Amino acid sequence: MNPVPIPFLAPVLLGATLTAVAGEPSFERTLEIAGGRVEVNVRGKLQHEEPFWRWIDESARAVSTYFGRFPVPRVRLAVRVVDGDRVGHGVATGGPVPLIRITIGSDVTPATFRRDWMLTHEMVHLAFPNLTSDDAWAEEGLATYVEPIARVRNGTMDPREPWRQLVEGVPQGLPAAGDHGLHGTRSWGRTYWGGALFWLLADLKIREATGGRRGLEHGLRGVLEAGGSIRESWSLERTLQIADGAAGVSVLVPLYRQMAFGRVDTDLEALWRRLGVSRSGRDISFDDDAPLAALRQAITPDVPRREAGLSRQVPSLKTTGACLPASPSVAKAIRGLNNGA
Ligand SMILES: [Zn+2]
Repeated sequence: MNPVPIPFLAPVLLGATLTAVAGEPSFERTLEIAGGRVEVNVRGKLQHEEPFWRWIDESARAVSTYFGRFPVPRVRLAVRVVDGDRVGHGVATGGPVPLIRITIGSDVTPATFRRDWMLTHEMVHLAFPNLTSDDAWAEEGLATYVEPIARVRNGTMDPREPWRQLVEGVPQGLPAAGDHGLHGTRSWGRTYWGGALFWLLADLKIREATGGRRGLEHGLRGVLEAGGSIRESWSLERTLQIADGAAGVSVLVPLYRQMAFGRVDTDLEALWRRLGVSRSGRDISFDDDAPLAALRQAITPDVPRREAGLSRQVPSLKTTGACLPASPSVAKAIRGLNNGA
């Protein structure tokens, strides 16, 4: 339905089949979004259909907006409907046709689908190679950092929200006593938030080095252009070299060597101050006169907000029942769990 904010992102219904497996409702449907096919298989009874398709569509649109296109030509999305009211565990794996597995509660409300970060997070993983080294922090940190930014750029999240998450989350990623570099870390906080800090610092350095002409996304798009997605297994160093080349800077490789193999302490309060980000309770406010305010605005531009919605209506399936009421469980609560997402 109009208006279509990003015309190239209109999902196309390619096919839907209904099957029954072991007495359990199951169906498949393929969506074509921004140059990629999302082949959806749903196991279980889908109670509330439209917000479900909207959720997939918006997640795919967010990553496509950030990366310039959908990261892979095809992805299988295996959805298992379970009891409950939240979007649960998700995991992305590679191969010629990557697979995202995710569980959703049968009672998930439209509001919870709109707030969900998990599917966008998994789709960000599609855009980065499987690493051949022990550097999960780079993969998880990237998904943690990019996911809310992609949603801001897609017009479905307030620009303050990624900064609130960073201000609250990144302190958990700082090195504790006895910690060294990020390489090989087994710590949840270092993996997700230490990794996110790496990508934030990299993004800022790229923007500073290029006078604002390039950002992290330009480097990452270069990785995709070179064939580096979750379908491939690459070393982190090679991946970052290609990203640096695409951004026209030498930022990522030196920062990686520094933060992966040595202890780096960061004065976060000074960093937030320079970016013009301040927190009062759970509220974030911006100071546009801060020295790095322009970089902050470039990362999370104030694009027109809209309700998450389909750019084109997906036809109804015949298999759905009434929407069930649900408690306002927030998927964010799951972010604190080390669930391998
Ligand atoms: Zn993840």
